[in-house]
Amino acid sequence: MIGNMMFQPLLISSLIEHAATYHADTEIISKNTDGSMTHTNWGQVAQNAKRFANVLASFDLAISDRVATIAWNNHRHLETWYGISGSGLVCHTINPRLFPEQLSYIVNDADDKVLIFDKTFINLVLSIKDSIPSVEHFICLDAFDRDIQKALPNVCFYDDLIKERSDQFEWTELDEAKASSLCYTSGTTGNPKGVLYSHRSTVLHSYASSLPDSFNFSALDRILPVVPMFHVNAWGTPYSAAMIGCSMVLPGPMLDGASLVQLIDQYKVTNALGVPTIWQGLLNAAYQSGSKLESLVRNIVGGAACPPSMLKAFKDDFQCETIHAWGMTETSPLGAVNQLKAKHLETDETEQFKQRFAQGRPPYGVSLRVCHDEKGVEESARDGYTPGHLQIKGHWIVESYFNQFDHALTQDNWFDTGDIATLDQDGYMQISDRSKDLIKSGGEWISSVELENIAIAHPELEMVAVIAASHAKWDERPILIAKRAAVSSLSEAEVLAFYHNKIAKWQIPDRVIFVDAIPVGGTGKILKKDLREIYGSVLLEETPA
Ligand code: AMP
Repeated sequence: MIGNMMFQPLLISSLIEHAATYHADTEIISKNTDGSMTHTNWGQVAQNAKRFANVLASFDLAISDRVATIAWNNHRHLETWYGISGSGLVCHTINPRLFPEQLSYIVNDADDKVLIFDKTFINLVLSIKDSIPSVEHFICLDAFDRDIQKALPNVCFYDDLIKERSDQFEWTELDEAKASSLCYTSGTTGNPKGVLYSHRSTVLHSYASSLPDSFNFSALDRILPVVPMFHVNAWGTPYSAAMIGCSMVLPGPMLDGASLVQLIDQYKVTNALGVPTIWQGLLNAAYQSGSKLESLVRNIVGGAACPPSMLKAFKDDFQCETIHAWGMTETSPLGAVNQLKAKHLETDETEQFKQRFAQGRPPYGVSLRVCHDEKGVEESARDGYTPGHLQIKGHWIVESYFNQFDHALTQDNWFDTGDIATLDQDGYMQISDRSKDLIKSGGEWISSVELENIAIAHPELEMVAVIAASHAKWDERPILIAKRAAVSSLSEAEVLAFYHNKIAKWQIPDRVIFVDAIPVGGTGKILKKDLREIYGSVLLEETPA
């Protein structure tokens, strides 16, 4: 016997319909690539999404064809997302910070038929246009521009295209398992791999990520996704915001601390989401300007480990609750988020604060385990102490990569994340490292994350990364690459002394190398692979033969 309840497929079009019906006048504030601001709302976003769906319907496209976007977080980009997925096409978001060869690899692998781009990316598009034969239509996300048209004669302009179209469109009826969007992993090892999300996985992820114990979104919120829409769909926020009916501020291309402080203060943002490097910039800018970030109730930090000192700075100096979360492109991304349980409220503030350092526990819909090896044969103890290979399964977790026919899973259907972590009885997970970033010194593991968390708490260090350097005796030893604050003359000895009594002596880095800049990748994460290439042999070079 099956239940007698209605069945409605979980489709992305239902999210924008909901927002347009019940939250039409809720504001979407968008910073354009030229710095100007556009004030729109869910009602108008839905209308333009339908106009754009009519544009796409006039192209010769089949269900599930890929439509690529190379764009910042802005209202036009948002409208195209709903227009694309709502008409049964797949929205392929592309990271513009990749090299041109990687970009054309991705466009060809995805077999994109349409390429939509922000005006600022015209040179990027010109550099790949001859190596992406599948693309039949180029659309510039702007009004007509003579220079762009001269450079790319077959380009169309978004504003002109939608102006003449009807805002009436019947969203395409689809099976909820159909593909909705595509995002490539950052490809730090080998070529990037495509993760193809479905309508169902996206809607379920929106429910789970909005919950009070997740990102805690409400219709009273105005959220600021600093995380780009090309990085795991801005952590799903354009979908969850429509589901919840919250207001959004889309920051466009200016992601420096001062611009973000200004957006938060001017538009009274209540909740913002981004990677730690973004928040470091924001904290520095807020201290400099004297802003108290008064409207900001909470911020979500993920994508890389959130240093405890950052949690403390937001709480003590800005009364802002920092929520640490973990995820990956392959997990849509939410896999764990750190919110306290009732029993933690019985402990003192220091204990509660400590509890929040970890990456958090899984929301309903995903499960976590740690195993002795990546094949997942034997589970490690859930004691909050024993590290293992972190594995995940659930409704919004990848099963296989796009264009690759093998499953990406263990024999018993878990996805190995490549992260090393501990789990405790309550499911709180703490990442020790990426498995490839762990340092193996004389057979003992050292967590680079732990060493970085200590160093970044030093007030005169602005950015740090710990990597493994080859060592004649110990195989590998940790070294610290550090960027000092502008006026600092901090010495290596002072930094090393800062580690004393905070960690076992043998875990203290062997060297501190001061640099002017630490390389970060397209999603704002530190490129440890590049650092290893530059500094990985430094200890061998120093050891006399
Ligand atoms: P990406 O697919 O580019 O988002 O990268 C996913 C990887 O980022 C994960 O496998 C982790 O190694 C890392 N990551 C994400 N969130 C965190 C976090 N809160 N703490 C530590 N590492 C993280």
